[in-house]
Amino acid sequence: MKYISTRGDQSPKHFCDILLEGLAPDGGLYLPAHYPQVDDAALSRLRSVYQNQGYAELAFEVLSLYIDDIPSVDLMALCRKTYTTEVFGSPEIVPLRPLENGIWLEALSNGPTLAFKDMAMQLLGNLFEYELARRGEELNILGATSGDTGSAAEYAMRGKTGVRVFMTSPQGRMSPFQQAQMFSLMDDNIFNIAVDGVFDDCQDMVKAVSNDLDFKRQYKIGTVNSINWARLLAQVVYYFAGYFQATQNNTEKVSFTVPSGNFGNVCAGHVARMMGLPIARLVVATNENDVLDEFFKTGIYRVRSSADTHETSSPSMDISKASNFERFVFDLLGRDGASTKALFGDALGRVGCFDLEAHPAFSQVTRRYGFDSGKSTHADRLATIKDTWEHHGMMIDTHTADGVKVARAHVKSGVPMIVLETALPIKFAATIIEATGREPDRPAKFNGIEALPKRVVTMATDVQAIKAFIAGHCS
Ligand SMILES: *Cc1c(COP(=O)(O)O)cnc(C)c1O
Repeated sequence: MKYISTRGDQSPKHFCDILLEGLAPDGGLYLPAHYPQVDDAALSRLRSVYQNQGYAELAFEVLSLYIDDIPSVDLMALCRKTYTTEVFGSPEIVPLRPLENGIWLEALSNGPTLAFKDMAMQLLGNLFEYELARRGEELNILGATSGDTGSAAEYAMRGKTGVRVFMTSPQGRMSPFQQAQMFSLMDDNIFNIAVDGVFDDCQDMVKAVSNDLDFKRQYKIGTVNSINWARLLAQVVYYFAGYFQATQNNTEKVSFTVPSGNFGNVCAGHVARMMGLPIARLVVATNENDVLDEFFKTGIYRVRSSADTHETSSPSMDISKASNFERFVFDLLGRDGASTKALFGDALGRVGCFDLEAHPAFSQVTRRYGFDSGKSTHADRLATIKDTWEHHGMMIDTHTADGVKVARAHVKSGVPMIVLETALPIKFAATIIEATGREPDRPAKFNGIEALPKRVVTMATDVQAIKAFIAGHCS
């Protein structure tokens, strides 16, 4: 499989070339040159692989369609090392459980950091270690997080040979549990940097460092942000696993509702659907930061300033722009790199928005690509968490609650609606207590983490300072 850029660069790259890269050189995002098609016979085979062999073997099969530069035995070993019952808590890895009237929850949050990002990041850690060893290279991962990405990256990379992680986060904005998860890591290759600013300031610093090409080359700077194709690809697998658990045969369709921020998770659903997985609807659920809901309702994509970005009780969805969205728009525009570049490279940079309402492609968003959307507020979140607790005895986290709220408005009889559970409630305990008056369950291994010693440096939003910090810790 060859990979191309959404902004038109067609110079062929293989999976391992883009594995360690962020954006394409032309500023676009990488996508496979085509989506491999899974026909009825292939789908039946994958169903039986998942049911009879397991998730790791399913992951191997799906990944193999996109990766031709890692020998099969090695790729299988990497998948088996990643998706174990010990790490993810059950043999299904992503077990499905019924919630109510046709709505199901697919558990993606039983990995080391209790958020769905572990699903991809744990694999990425093993892929990075493998590829760096093969090349005899090192990598310094520089990232920005509002919580879940950073901890998932750190737990995936801790102790790995050849990798360091420099993770910026907005000071004081993560939940105490999230801060404890990240800052209690004492591994020599993990560096936490709390920035005096909001998430976008962190992201801007990371961008500024990455845009200094000399520095980037000298210090071998890489990223694990959600634009990384390998992460997206790893996420495609659990759409298949969810589908196989919800259906008996391939004539059945399912829909997914996806709590969304940077559009990475639901973009993986789009890829699965493009491959032929029988998905009826992909419902994008947002919180008050409704950039995506606005687009799917109006055709207008309008990025927000950091002043216009709300701090909400589902903070991992607090985004001002959706960094993976360009991938979908590229497909929507018939994979026209020049048009995609005009929108994301030019219009967004100039005026911060574009409007596709009058574009013939916009009517295809729902009809051809199956997208719907909805939005949830703090009050909705509280009501949904309280309701699922009181009526179903099930405690859900704030992001998943945004999904359930939106799913209820889109569920259709006869089509299972699978809501992706993106985090466990313990990560966002304050809001759960506000909603239910009860402390959420805490997996035993996290008892007392808030009291552990913390390893973190604080920094102003100063690009020189972070460069100096990285330089000082790379030797
Ligand atoms: C990252 C995250 C999201 C948003 O996922 P995207 O891929 O950015 O759309 C939703 N919920 C939780 C808990 C997350 O950590």
